Amino acid sequence: MGKRKTNIFTAEDISRIEAEFKLLKDNLYRCDKPGDRALIDKAFQFANEAHRDMRRNSGEPYIIHPINVARIVNQEIGLGAKSVAAALLHDVVEDTEITLEDISKEFGPKIASLIDGLTKISGTYNKETNSLQAENFRKMLMTLSDDIRVIIIKIADRLHNMRTLEAMPEHKRLKVAGETIYLYAPLAHRLGLFAIKTELEDLSFKFRHPRIFDEIARKVKLDEKKNLALINRFSLPIIDRLNDNNIIFDISGRFKSIYSIWKKMQSKNVPFEEVYDLLAVRIVFEPGPEMSERAQCWQIYSLITDIYTPKPDRLRDWVSRPKPNGYEALHLTVMGPEGRWVEVQIRSQRMDDIAERGFAAHWKYKGDTAQTESELDKWLKHIREMLANPMSDPIAFLDDFKMSLFSSEIMVFTPKGLLVNLPKGASALDFAYEIHTDVGNKAIGAKVNYKLSPLSVMLQSGDQVEIITSSIAKPEKEWLEYAHTAKAKGAIKGALRDESKDRIQKGIEMLEQKLSELGILPNSEIIKKLLDNYELLNKEELYSRIALGVINLEDLRKVLKKAPESSFNKFWKLAVGGVSRRQEPEKETKGEAALIDKKHPYLLRENVNNSGNSYLIAKCCNPIPGDEVVGYIAPDNSIVVHKPKCPVAVKLLASEGNRIIQVRWTIHKLASFLARISINGIDKLGLVNEVTNIISMELNVNIRNINVSVYNGIFEGTIDLYIHHTRDLNNLIMQLSNIKGIASVKRVEEFMEE
Ligand code: MN
Repeated sequence: MGKRKTNIFTAEDISRIEAEFKLLKDNLYRCDKPGDRALIDKAFQFANEAHRDMRRNSGEPYIIHPINVARIVNQEIGLGAKSVAAALLHDVVEDTEITLEDISKEFGPKIASLIDGLTKISGTYNKETNSLQAENFRKMLMTLSDDIRVIIIKIADRLHNMRTLEAMPEHKRLKVAGETIYLYAPLAHRLGLFAIKTELEDLSFKFRHPRIFDEIARKVKLDEKKNLALINRFSLPIIDRLNDNNIIFDISGRFKSIYSIWKKMQSKNVPFEEVYDLLAVRIVFEPGPEMSERAQCWQIYSLITDIYTPKPDRLRDWVSRPKPNGYEALHLTVMGPEGRWVEVQIRSQRMDDIAERGFAAHWKYKGDTAQTESELDKWLKHIREMLANPMSDPIAFLDDFKMSLFSSEIMVFTPKGLLVNLPKGASALDFAYEIHTDVGNKAIGAKVNYKLSPLSVMLQSGDQVEIITSSIAKPEKEWLEYAHTAKAKGAIKGALRDESKDRIQKGIEMLEQKLSELGILPNSEIIKKLLDNYELLNKEELYSRIALGVINLEDLRKVLKKAPESSFNKFWKLAVGGVSRRQEPEKETKGEAALIDKKHPYLLRENVNNSGNSYLIAKCCNPIPGDEVVGYIAPDNSIVVHKPKCPVAVKLLASEGNRIIQVRWTIHKLASFLARISINGIDKLGLVNEVTNIISMELNVNIRNINVSVYNGIFEGTIDLYIHHTRDLNNLIMQLSNIKGIASVKRVEEFMEE
């Protein structure tokens, strides 16, 4: 944690330091071997001297921090004198002039190696400016193979920093809180340090979402009183029954941590009231001599189920088979008063200690000190093995580790390092909606760990995700296939619904206006005629197609005049494209081509009033304003614009030359055209970012789609863009070619729109 050298300690500072150290000294656990206390005294004197006149952000003497870390290490986790000494010295090498050699000389190689490990771990993130990447996580885990004590002291260090996080500047708070929930809480969980894990989670949550935290805390308090009465009513018969059977026990109501309530609200998408519905009590018993702990758990189980009906699918037996992290208990859920489910946790005193303080609590239940030391060593060895895994591939090891840490939830980061929780299997699209509905609705792609990826990509814990948006993007039906969170699905469905509602309304208005122009009142007969003509099943479909321009209202009069017929030909014409035709009102002449004056170039106009243009763009060569083009009068009388080089156009020139006309672009302000460029170069970090940055800075260009692949260090991709004129495209191509590492940027003439 940051600190500054300020004014010299006052007498008050010095007595504060003495008092804090006394608190540690007077409550030491397991430090009774010869030399233990002397070692701790010496470590304190040494660290106190090294940190002299240094202060924390809060202004208090810096040494208060190592003293408190030492207290957590000893009194909350149960580690012995060497670890206490190491905790007192943990920031000395990193923050003062003292070197590792100095430590080794004064305290021997064992403590020096602990300090070395602690200093190394710090190095793996402090240099990282933004977020904690998977790579760092891996590095950190790899350091575990040295001595698990290092990681425990580090957890204690973090716990104290979290307890005092208020003093940090806000932007640092979020980063520290994010790391805590992502890395330290799961590690504490894995090491069986449940009380610490829960505290880390709640503290992290409090700083990341202060308002939600306060809100849940307030509700918990409110409910606690109500529930307490219920729990008392529930407990009374149990207390009587256990007393009758001479069981020595303690029963207490158990309240969920604020973070766990919130997590459940998120994952199940339910309100607070529903999460909090489950009441829980814990029975901790003193094991009697005549029965095994396990048998006693089941005895209590049967005494309780004599009174209350159990829910069979909610029985959890972690007594016969402890959890991998050492948790032992018997959980059952029964129907309590007022028909409410109550979870009952049954544990022996030993199981409870282990549950709250981890395996380190074991020592308490084994005989003499020498024995306990080896017991602790055995535990450390066990954890080390569990973490070091036989797998030699560090990535696979990491995956395995993460897998077990986050079974139902993943944690990913925004580019600024903020943490986002998502259910396992969530896609980049889910992430986008989690950030904000508007981000989701405008998303076109994502950068996952700096690599461009489609919105459908499945995210992994530790990924850093950035969403690429475009003002012209909108939700599509297929998005529902890779949206997993209720939030994303709801937002997409809502947007699709709004859009089709808008479209139908627009279609109704367009049709009514056209009919009134023709002096016809809309009635059901007319609608029926239209439905028949366009082979549609319902009105909604008709209106929506009118709004989209698939049905051209210019044909309306003809359609209504016409007797019902097999309308294959007409249908084919209408299906040509989602673009309306020429603007001139259609004359009822037989020689359709006569409409066009071949002596003058036909002007390619942007149709400002309606949705489409006065011509169609050939899909084979995708010309854009600014390109050299020719027009082709299609059999349905629409003008299709080709590039003269286009093979299709060449063929048309040869076979239907009389239908080819001169055309000329007019200025297009609204309509944008799809163009594709291909790009390749040497893959390097940040290249894609640079490319997208340049594109996004071009005002007249919008990204529609990006496709990038990297093979053998070569980066290749295509980018689909919406542009108004070739000028903009050429300009962009020039800028992209200037990026270091880019070998070529080319326009792709022939492509099919996906
Ligand atoms: Mn520290």
